[in-house]
Amino acid sequence: MRIGHGYDVHRLEEGRPLILCGVKIPYKKGLLGHSDADVAVHALMDALLGAAALGDIGCHFPDTDPKYKGISSLKLLSFVVNLLKQNGFCASNIDITIIAQEPKLKKWIFEMRETLSQTLNLPPERVSVKATTEEGLGVSAHSLGIAAHCVCLITEF
Ligand code: MG
Repeated sequence: MRIGHGYDVHRLEEGRPLILCGVKIPYKKGLLGHSDADVAVHALMDALLGAAALGDIGCHFPDTDPKYKGISSLKLLSFVVNLLKQNGFCASNIDITIIAQEPKLKKWIFEMRETLSQTLNLPPERVSVKATTEEGLGVSAHSLGIAAHCVCLITEF
């Protein structure tokens, strides 16, 4: 077994959709980025790639490449899952923490887990998504941005 960790942060701006773990969340702002800026899926992909020592999302999906503009991060996640498979690895479980002051994410957590579980080919019991605030401090203060951490275990088959 191998362990991996990923971290990402994106800035919140008006006029962008807010997409977290592949789920569109109604909110006055969304995350800014070259892709759909799904910060949670970005942290997840970096955790998976890190566990397999296969680089990071910056080297696989450069933000200078127009083909990734506006792309769903779930499509990128599918690519990462396949890349791990080609290298003899599969995810065993994942644990994501989303750090956001606003909006409250509790009611979306189930849908997020279901969505990720389909792309990861893992039962939802092995896909954990948690949300926390930073008590008005840190990058999430004043809803300036949203950050995410992910830890995962992968198994060599
Ligand atoms: Mg990112």
